[in-house]
Amino acid sequence: MRYLSTRGYAADQSHSGPTFSEILLAGLAPDGGLYLPESYPRVGQDELDAWRSLPYPVLAFQVLSRFIDDVPADDLLQLLERTYTAEVYCHGRNPAQAADITPLRWLQAPDPVHDEGGLALLELSNGPTLAFKDMAMQLLGQLFEYTLAKRCEEINILGATSGDTGSSAEYAMRGKAGIRVFMLSPHQRMSAFQRAQMYSLTDANIFNIAVRGMFDDAQDIVKAVSNDHAFKARYKIGAVNSINWARVAAQVVYYFKGYFAATGGRNGQNNRLVDFAVPSGNFGNICAGHIARMMGLPIGRLVLATNENDVLDEFFRTGVYRPRATSETFATSSPSMDISKASNFERFVFDLVGRDPAIVRELWAKVDAGGAFDLSGTPFLARLPEFGFVSGASTHADRLTTIRQTCERYGVIVDTHTADALKVAEAWRRTDAPMVVLETALPVKFEETIVEALGRHPERPAALQGIENLPQRVTVLDVDVAAVKRFIESHTG
Ligand SMILES: *Cc1c(COP(=O)(O)O)cnc(C)c1O
Repeated sequence: MRYLSTRGYAADQSHSGPTFSEILLAGLAPDGGLYLPESYPRVGQDELDAWRSLPYPVLAFQVLSRFIDDVPADDLLQLLERTYTAEVYCHGRNPAQAADITPLRWLQAPDPVHDEGGLALLELSNGPTLAFKDMAMQLLGQLFEYTLAKRCEEINILGATSGDTGSSAEYAMRGKAGIRVFMLSPHQRMSAFQRAQMYSLTDANIFNIAVRGMFDDAQDIVKAVSNDHAFKARYKIGAVNSINWARVAAQVVYYFKGYFAATGGRNGQNNRLVDFAVPSGNFGNICAGHIARMMGLPIGRLVLATNENDVLDEFFRTGVYRPRATSETFATSSPSMDISKASNFERFVFDLVGRDPAIVRELWAKVDAGGAFDLSGTPFLARLPEFGFVSGASTHADRLTTIRQTCERYGVIVDTHTADALKVAEAWRRTDAPMVVLETALPVKFEETIVEALGRHPERPAALQGIENLPQRVTVLDVDVAAVKRFIESHTG
């Protein structure tokens, strides 16, 4: 399997494109585009039947070996068996199901006579940081360590976080050979729980830096350090951001797993359609759903849900993609979806415009210049139904109502992001297909809003009780690029 860029790199060269391992540690393609496989591997009915009852790591092997053909099969399977274990994914509502990795929980079972309809949660948040980002990041940790060892190389991962991504990266990379993590966070701006999650890690390769400023200040420092090309090369600075192809690929697997679980009932027909609802920000999660569908998994609709930051909902309703300025981006109670532009969206648009890199270059010339594009007058917009996408948006008031109703009706407490997806999913439910809502975080991560909705605290997984009392290790620095560089210099080599 070779890879190409959405803006043409590799496809327009006489030589063949890079392999999976060659793009694993890379960010953007050299032309500024995003990497995608040259073509999507197709999965037939025979394979779907054979994969139905596989344990998670073996299913992951079947799916991912179609995208990763430059890692020996035995090694890949071993990496996956080390990644997706019951010990790592033990924080769910029902620890007895931990070996399922992503258990499906029916809120409303399909009609038992006709095996129709139904509403379910696919639990993607039972990993160490209680958010779905662990699903991909944990595999990235294994793949990085493996690949770096083969090449006798090292990497220093530098990032900025307001909470979720940073902790997920640290838990995935802790103790890994050849990898150090330098994670910047805004001093005294994260919740006590988030601080405890990150700062209580004592692994020698994890460095928490709290900067006396806001998240944007931390982000700007990361950009400044990465733009110093000499420093970047000398200290082997890398990133684990959401455009990383391996992260998207790892997420394709649970659409298969969720599909099988939702159609495995007594009357389950093999080829029936399942709809998925996805709380979306950077379009990484739902992009994986799109790829699973392109591979031939019988997904009916992909229901994209946003919060008040509705850039993507606007596109799927009108054909206009208008990234917002930071000043136009709202801070909401589903903060991991507070984005102004969707960094993975270019991947879908590439497919939508018939994989024509010239068109993508033209559209993103406008976006990169701070503008917008409009597909409403073009034949491309008419093709949207072919790809199954529909959308909707949700507000803080909607989240409170949904959390309350879900608790009353089904006895389940959901987090704020999952609530956004549940709200939009209700609008698109139909009787002839089950609706699977992806649960992207556990409610304990967003306690404040749960208390606002229900007047009580959500339950905390046993392993995380009292983490606020553990000793913490963090270095506090001023908003000062030179100070961060000095810190990196003195903690490497
Ligand atoms: C990152 C995140 C999302 C958004 O996922 P994308 O892949 O960026 O669309 C949704 N919910 C939670 C809890 C997240 O951490």
